[in-house]
Amino acid sequence: MTSPDPAAASPDGNDRRPQAQVWTGGSDFEVREFAPPTLGPGESLIRLTAATVCGSDRHTVSGRRPGACPSVLGHEGVGIVEETRGDVPVGTRVVFSVTSVCGDCRSCRRGLSAKCTSVRKVGHEAVESGWPLSGTYASHIHLPAGVAIVPVPDTLPDGVAATAGCAVATVMAMCEAAGDLRGRRVFVNGIGMLGLAAVGAALSRGAAEVVAADPHPDRRRLAERAGAATIEPGEQVSEIDVALELSGAESGVRACLDAVGIGGTTVLAGSVTPGPEVAIDPEQIVRGWRTITGVHNFEPHHLAEAVDYLAADGTGLPWEDILAGPIPLADLPDEFADPSEGLRTVVTITP
Ligand SMILES: [Zn+2]
Ligand SMILES: [Zn+2]
Repeated sequence: MTSPDPAAASPDGNDRRPQAQVWTGGSDFEVREFAPPTLGPGESLIRLTAATVCGSDRHTVSGRRPGACPSVLGHEGVGIVEETRGDVPVGTRVVFSVTSVCGDCRSCRRGLSAKCTSVRKVGHEAVESGWPLSGTYASHIHLPAGVAIVPVPDTLPDGVAATAGCAVATVMAMCEAAGDLRGRRVFVNGIGMLGLAAVGAALSRGAAEVVAADPHPDRRRLAERAGAATIEPGEQVSEIDVALELSGAESGVRACLDAVGIGGTTVLAGSVTPGPEVAIDPEQIVRGWRTITGVHNFEPHHLAEAVDYLAADGTGLPWEDILAGPIPLADLPDEFADPSEGLRTVVTITP
């Protein structure tokens, strides 16, 4: 792969060299130009048309979460294949996975490629790592052979399509971990982008009822518009078949474990930083045939399922309130300093 070559940057900015908002630490960004990458076997260069700002990027910039720096952040994006040595033809509009995987290690061979022992991640690699154009806050992203690429139908707007690449694909992985949702009572704790997609996806998969909890009334209203009944945190809910936990809060995990009835399954996905331990009474698990499992990132087929869901029943989500912006890429630093309303800010990327 290539290294940044600032000396060759065009002073007037009128050439087509890849350009990115490079995060340089704290709340600082700087626009840098990069040499176009020379593609290896299986690799692609995508000309990005839009990105969406995932909450985890906000945590990185605010210092709540460590991140490689300087780096091009952004791992939700959509664009057009501009050049490729892979299978997806030039000109195809696509989304792509967060993870770049080897396909050959123990995790990859057992179908858990998200946990590849040599995983690298879109929007998480330092510009000096040998993969400078790794993020979506850029004119182009360079995708290694190990990143899944999925075509997107023309009917999906850019901002909606971009959410497939992290939020919605993760929700698809959670639904798979939860098992058959037809006729089930589902509890969703935490209504951000993932929680809202979880409400929609559970109903799309035939759930009889979805109950959602969130402390913010605005978020509960969004969940109601997506088809859920809502409760405030602390309100009792019981005899749940499937609980999907997205808040990462200890109280949220507790609420899910307590809500699940006989034969029920709790899928945890919000707890991505070390947190306090949560007590479990093994007898409740044993006599109740209960299951507790976790999901982090997703597999390539979940990304394809996310695109299918978004193009079908996902159109019924309240996108006009989910998406903020669009803002131009030049305004990205301001967006991190002063976040827009909405669950995902759309960043429009123009050549
Ligand atoms: Zn994300
Ligand atoms: Zn691997």
